Amino acid sequence: CGIVGYLGKRNASDVIVDGLAKLEYRGYDSAGIAINTGDNLEIRKFKGRLAVLADNLEKDNVIGNVGIGHTRWATHGEPSDANAHPHFNKDMTLAVVHNGIIENYLQLREQLEAEGVVFKSKTDTEVVVHLLDKYYEGNLLDAVFKTISDLRGAYALCIVSADHDNELVAVRKDSPLIAGLGEDEAFIASDIPALLKYTRDVYYLDNGEIVHVKDNKVKIYDSERNEVDKPLIHVTWDI
Ligand code: GLU
Repeated sequence: CGIVGYLGKRNASDVIVDGLAKLEYRGYDSAGIAINTGDNLEIRKFKGRLAVLADNLEKDNVIGNVGIGHTRWATHGEPSDANAHPHFNKDMTLAVVHNGIIENYLQLREQLEAEGVVFKSKTDTEVVVHLLDKYYEGNLLDAVFKTISDLRGAYALCIVSADHDNELVAVRKDSPLIAGLGEDEAFIASDIPALLKYTRDVYYLDNGEIVHVKDNKVKIYDSERNEVDKPLIHVTWDI
């Protein structure tokens, strides 16, 4: 039950797996990552301990500078590779990780299936990525705003796209999420411990806020899409 996102000069999968390990106290049954490798998204996800994912990457790492990762605590759909996050659209150009519950997922799933979408998992989360796919017209942030206006429930989301190797979008609603800023790099995480090795400068997100990381800059918006001017807080404590 943790989220980590990274955009910067380091190898994203290393930062993400390291960050997810610091969130292990939150509990989980599966783990996965989606990394923009420069021309596509590479997704690895497995039921089980984070070590299963880490071992896979140790043998054959994914190289790229932007990506998202997740440890899952299943609420809808049993723990399995298919139900593990990230979830992705039909072309594998968009991927999402989610903590929380999408309360109206059944209704959204039926609508999307009626429009021809084929689901690959039993999760509530998968509707999110198919909505993104439906609304995406080249601008990732636009698609996220349209998507969340359809969602009811509690969600922390982090989204990566194959078309944008310099962007990440994250959303916080009734589920914890923070953003961190380093030198020419930015982070998204469920909690501070995931970031402390890399940065102590964080934005505490309020409920309903959307984070847009682009070219290592972090912009935060409220649900009406007004830019929010937030203080960057320096964390002084240690774990
Ligand atoms: N409800 C989602 C699922 O079951 C997310 C669970 C979580 O917060 O890890 O896949």
